[in-house]
Amino acid sequence: EIIEFNRFFNRIIDRFEMSKSQNVHFERYLPNEQYFVEIDPDKLTQVIDNIISNALKYSPEGGMIRFAMTVEEGALQIRISDQGMGIPKENVDRIFDRFYRVDRARSREMGGTGLGLAISKEMIHAHGGSIWAKSVYGRGTTIFFTLPFEIDDGGEWE
Ligand code: ATP
Ligand code: MG
Repeated sequence: EIIEFNRFFNRIIDRFEMSKSQNVHFERYLPNEQYFVEIDPDKLTQVIDNIISNALKYSPEGGMIRFAMTVEEGALQIRISDQGMGIPKENVDRIFDRFYRVDRARSREMGGTGLGLAISKEMIHAHGGSIWAKSVYGRGTTIFFTLPFEIDDGGEWE
């Protein structure tokens, strides 16, 4: 399905912003242009839902979640950053492994199965993109993913 990603992404962020119970602020750094991508919207929704749920889970009271999107080398690059506890450097790449959870004690408290990011990785790869994380332990985490786009101008029929 061909989807205008900016609108699609904003709607998902809106849904979380309206329903969140924590005192966490959302900031969006999204371009005004339209970007058309060929994606499975249900699967991409699942990916983004998981990333935002994680960001909320680990955000401190009064924290900020930033959403950003830029074009890098013919692909959309999406970034979701939180100011949570972060992930120790040696564990950052492992968060995409099945059932991997950084700290059993804190994860038990938080619920979940440890599958969310493994599934997200599979889905992003199936769309021809990549996904990775950067984190500073104690300061926060950013999840990055890319989506190649073939069509950059949906306005040609107007
Ligand atoms: P599930 O998504 O299946 O409900 P989960 O959230 O624990 O469970 P993943 O989404 O795969 O599983 O994340 C794996 C682990 O990576 C988490 O348990 C957590 O330890 C760590 N993690 C993921 N996102 C963040 C984040 N934003 N800040 C800190 N740690 C994170
Ligand atoms: Mg998760």
